[in-house]
Amino acid sequence: MKINFWIESIATFVYNKVFLSLLIFIIGFFTSYSQQTEKVDFININATVQPIFTEKKVKATATYTFKILKNCDSIYLDAPNIILLSTKNFNSEIKVISKNKKIWLFADFKLNKTYKISFSYEAIPKKALYFFKNQIWTQGQGKYTSNWLPSINDMNDKIWFHISYIIPSEKKMVANGVLKSITKKEKFSIWEYKMTNPISSYLVAFAVGDFSKKIIKSSSKIPIELYYPTNDSLYFETTYRYSEKIFNFLENEIGFKYPWANYKQVPLHDFMYAGMENTSATFFSDDFIVDSIGFNDRNYINVNAHELAHQWFGNLVTEQSSSDHWLHEGFASYFALLAEKEIFGEDYYYWELYQSAEQLRSLSEEGKGEALNDPQGSSITFYEKGAWALHILREKVGDKVFKKGIKNYLFKYQFQNVKIKDFLIEIELVYRMNLNDYENDWISQTEFQYEQVYISLMKSKFMRDYFNLLSLRPLSISSKIIDFEKALNSSNDFLGQEVVYQLQNEPISKTLPFYKKAFQTNNIKIRQAIALSMDKIPTELKTDYESLLNDKSYITQEIAFGNLCANFYTERPKYLNKIDKVIGFRDNNVRQFWLFMAIITKKYKPEKKDLYINELKQYSSSNYGYAVRKKAFEFIDYLNLWDHETIYNLINASQHHYWKFRASSRKILNKLLTNETFKKQIILLRNTLDDKSQNFLSKVLEEN
Ligand SMILES: [Zn+2]
Repeated sequence: MKINFWIESIATFVYNKVFLSLLIFIIGFFTSYSQQTEKVDFININATVQPIFTEKKVKATATYTFKILKNCDSIYLDAPNIILLSTKNFNSEIKVISKNKKIWLFADFKLNKTYKISFSYEAIPKKALYFFKNQIWTQGQGKYTSNWLPSINDMNDKIWFHISYIIPSEKKMVANGVLKSITKKEKFSIWEYKMTNPISSYLVAFAVGDFSKKIIKSSSKIPIELYYPTNDSLYFETTYRYSEKIFNFLENEIGFKYPWANYKQVPLHDFMYAGMENTSATFFSDDFIVDSIGFNDRNYINVNAHELAHQWFGNLVTEQSSSDHWLHEGFASYFALLAEKEIFGEDYYYWELYQSAEQLRSLSEEGKGEALNDPQGSSITFYEKGAWALHILREKVGDKVFKKGIKNYLFKYQFQNVKIKDFLIEIELVYRMNLNDYENDWISQTEFQYEQVYISLMKSKFMRDYFNLLSLRPLSISSKIIDFEKALNSSNDFLGQEVVYQLQNEPISKTLPFYKKAFQTNNIKIRQAIALSMDKIPTELKTDYESLLNDKSYITQEIAFGNLCANFYTERPKYLNKIDKVIGFRDNNVRQFWLFMAIITKKYKPEKKDLYINELKQYSSSNYGYAVRKKAFEFIDYLNLWDHETIYNLINASQHHYWKFRASSRKILNKLLTNETFKKQIILLRNTLDDKSQNFLSKVLEEN
């Protein structure tokens, strides 16, 4: 049973790893189409917004200035869940009506005339604005800003936003643009923000919380404000490591000055994506808050660079439609990879390209390849194939042409919306040749061009060495001794890992010297490969394997700990004592697994079992992020620790705003409902819940 659990947990781990690397960024979102941009151009939105923690709602007043592009008698703003309170007219009579998730403006609108209207409203947003105990934050892309600020869902209307926020005086906030003033009233403060240029509505954002910040400056003198939860000041350096370097590198590499007045980044509680590139104010998941050990496996660098690259590719020049989504995600992914190359070196760069090429190739071979201009494309197409397309383009036209073309493209289309063709034309103009073949192979073709990819990969000496090593897989250990020695001596993570994987399932009599050597490299990644690939630990390697518990990797520590406990049952107390102070990543991976092991190991500190059980149960509460809670529910379910408290937390989790966590929680809840005892318990609990949870539970009970 323990082993089964372990296998399951490895599977989850591998899944998580794949998930993280694959879907790390927001999947492609699709703009809603409307022809309204032909009738009207919204010029600016001037609003005062007050989010109210206790009622989870927004009170606001907003003034809209717009220019009519075609004579008409009505225009609209997207405004689902908005309750209109009062309106105020300025230069002409406009009738304002809220209907069908829109606010309609009726008047005899005349071509080229500019109008102004103001109204106050309340909103109880079902999405796009999220309230927590200590934070409030927004997510516009895919969720629509119009849920809390009547605006235009269409990305093609770029608007000047000038928003003041009224928030509790003890809180801090982050929003787009330049902070013009903070006016303190008694209980509330007014934070006035102004954008220096127009942006699409999906990029409007704000976050309120208990933040502190440090300000650094780029070489170009742009202020970069790095926010962190005040309680997490110890992790500031490791979380934001290389931020300045990334900024300077990208600004230089893109060759176009950072287009906004400042740049802010803030980690948020229960943020559902890795990161979101709101204009001048990137939000990211607080799972990236790491210490120096966590940094080695799960750092913010890639997301940091990706969201920053979007400030040009997406925010400055914005797609016209989802068919042009490559111009956002492919570019952000490619430039993030370049930033990582700058930090981790060229081998890392090629390794990442190779990894995504393998995935894309196998999808393509299964007939699941997608064209880059497919508006329904999956994230792997927009992100990974998108990055490859730029890597290949650069090789084809050369560095100079590529950089000049990018610069011209950004200059020509800044603050506008673009099509893929617009970008290609800019490159062609500098290249002085057409890119028809390239366009056919990489933009409109569903098949992945592995031949071109392979030729490109072979330009790297490291990749040639790697492919050579890979070709030895079918051979016996004795025939590859020299190659293995060379690879392990190379101090290259990936070559060393490949050696370790080739040792798997071979007799220890032959592999022992190589394992010994692999352990002795003291390379975290090579040693991690041993932890990941070795289930049965030979006694000859027991001491070496035990040393993995000291490695500066929470992944290695978690796996090694579990594996040691499974292999050397009687020595569990020793291993438990060894890592009883380790917490792990933000999701408490090591700590929760440790608690699980301490609870099931009968002889281990029986007097403390209740404490351990209570600690594990607590991790399922909404005081913790969903990553912590998801793990806790798995352990609670496995250990059958269901009681009033944990079931209550499960019902709460089953209504969570993040769909993946909600789905996994509901699955467990549905399972519990098939058991009559639990079902009775759940029904008894119903009366203690708030209205929303009661309604939810009634619905679930009907279904079961
Ligand atoms: Zn992105």
